[in-house]
Amino acid sequence: MTTPKSHDVLIVGAGIFGLSCAYACARAGLSVLVLDANTIGSGASGGIVGALAPFTPDQWQAKKQYQRDALASAQKHWAIVDKLSGIASGYGRIGRLSPIMDERTLKLAHIRTAEAGKNWRDFTWDVIDSHSLLSADAAPFGIIHDTLSARIYPSKACASLARACVQLGVEFRENSRVMGFEPGSVFGSWGQAHATSIILAGGYEGFHLLDFHFGTQMGSGVKGQAALLDVDMGNAPQIYADGTYIVPHADGTTTVGSTSEKKWGQPYEIDHLLDDVVARARGICPTIRDAPIIQTWAGLRPMARRREPLLGAIPDAPNVFAAMGGFKIGFGLAHKIGSTLADLVQHKPTEIPKSFTVEHHLE
Ligand SMILES: Cc1cc2nc3c(=O)[nH]c(=O)nc-3n(C[C@H](O)[C@H](O)[C@H](O)COP(=O)(O)OP(=O)(O)OC[C@H]3O[C@@H](n4cnc5c(N)ncnc54)[C@H](O)[C@@H]3O)c2cc1C
Repeated sequence: MTTPKSHDVLIVGAGIFGLSCAYACARAGLSVLVLDANTIGSGASGGIVGALAPFTPDQWQAKKQYQRDALASAQKHWAIVDKLSGIASGYGRIGRLSPIMDERTLKLAHIRTAEAGKNWRDFTWDVIDSHSLLSADAAPFGIIHDTLSARIYPSKACASLARACVQLGVEFRENSRVMGFEPGSVFGSWGQAHATSIILAGGYEGFHLLDFHFGTQMGSGVKGQAALLDVDMGNAPQIYADGTYIVPHADGTTTVGSTSEKKWGQPYEIDHLLDDVVARARGICPTIRDAPIIQTWAGLRPMARRREPLLGAIPDAPNVFAAMGGFKIGFGLAHKIGSTLADLVQHKPTEIPKSFTVEHHLE
């Protein structure tokens, strides 16, 4: 009997987290197998929004530093990935405009300008009076303009990263749902696969594997709906106002998103809630007022039980790790999370912000 092939690393899930882990592990010289229940980028990562936006620069703490470092290094990361793959991820550091709606936020914004100088260093958070992209009544107390925010086109970024992974020798198996894991192997109706280390990166559905291990619910899915508009805003800054994003893409389209629905019946159906988001966005930004909708999209964001990303070693499961819970900020963090997980599987020292650790989610 032949022994089944064993890899250094087996990754469950080919969304942006699984792909980023696969890429970082392969770059470290490890052999990698990625299993996906469906197809590459078919979960939350296959969407159209792609705002890469930072936490505010005040009340500085480890998770903000981690995210700042991820956002600061994203430009170089995606340039390398896109060159290797020959596919454009749509990355661009375009900055962000956020209207200021009241006096209190204006005062806070000025404090944050100074804090950004200290904590963001190469990037700024400035208060400006007006901007041609925003209608005057949308920004009664001015506008925050930050230069750390960026954009990416999520489904294209997944395609680029997946192709780069293949170039580095990563093996993919689609339509292979993992039903359970133990140290050194995973199994499903298709059989069993073996590896020295396992990374669970199954997004919203992937929480079920952890639920079973811990005997408690480790996360849930928060539905989001978004619309793609046929309007070319070039490299104009993205806009974030009143919970709504307007993201100009490199391909001459612009996305408006998103709803945030903890309760949902049909996960992938578009309904009237998206109309409200689009109407709000059109009111804020005259440039998109008459732009036709050319695509709509809905997905389930993976939200871990304490809202923060859930990263690191799984207690009582040697060499099994999690990279989950990207929720609303997964794309901005993904490549740094990939590097962190690659270090973990190689038993190199790593620093994971406490609020991102598995232990924190179990407290
Ligand atoms: C409408 C909307 C707008 C968003 N906007 C932004 C934004 O502007 N900026 C941002 O940073 N983030 C945004 N997000 C969030 C972002 O999309 C997620 O954080 C990110 O995609 C999560 O990636 P993931 O790899 O963890 O999960 P997923 O992309 O869901 O990937 C998980 C993969 O695992 C597979 N899988 C699941 N279970 C199993 C199993 N048992 N066996 C094998 N495979 C399995 C699935 O098929 C899937 O392909 C948005 C999300 C939505 C829905």
